[in-house]
Amino acid sequence: MLSPAVENLVAQLTRLPGVGTRTAHRLAFHLLRVPRDEAQALAAAIDEVKERVRFCSECGNLTEEERCAICRDERRDRTLVCVVEQPADLVSLERTHEYRGLYHVLGGSLSPIDGVEPEHLRIDELLGRVDRNGIEEVVLATNPNMTGEATAAYLADRLRGRVRVTRLASGLPVGGDLEYADEVTLGRALSGRREM
Ligand SMILES: [Zn+2]
Repeated sequence: MLSPAVENLVAQLTRLPGVGTRTAHRLAFHLLRVPRDEAQALAAAIDEVKERVRFCSECGNLTEEERCAICRDERRDRTLVCVVEQPADLVSLERTHEYRGLYHVLGGSLSPIDGVEPEHLRIDELLGRVDRNGIEEVVLATNPNMTGEATAAYLADRLRGRVRVTRLASGLPVGGDLEYADEVTLGRALSGRREM
């Protein structure tokens, strides 16, 4: 029906999370309507993040340097590490202003059904940091859903005896994502964290 180039754009857009065929068509037609430089600014922005942004060698957060801004910040409490699934969760926790420690980004949660096993996450890196770096407490802040809870339980087992392990307090919406929790709820969950 449409030109192959438009069909291709629609197909690429459909691969984005939360974008169905109808939305993809709307976005594609929008891009066809706007001036060339505006559409190209989007293409260049995508190109630039793929070129410049990488994972922090220490915590797995996104960065344009070897180590991210949080790991480089000398005012951070280096005895405390908060484990999250994705960089977006870290952003949510930072917004609460309740937390002054470091982070560890796993890159997902354990889900054997989807083929996500411990070796696919940055778990060895976490254990290495705990053994090496004088960490006194690990706060497990994986999502309060099935795979997040399973991941927290698995990590608590692996970390027990090496370091104090805590979990965010309940009160977060069960089955939800940290990413969408409001700051007050998340701040309370953090300050009320419990031993695991
Ligand atoms: Zn980092």
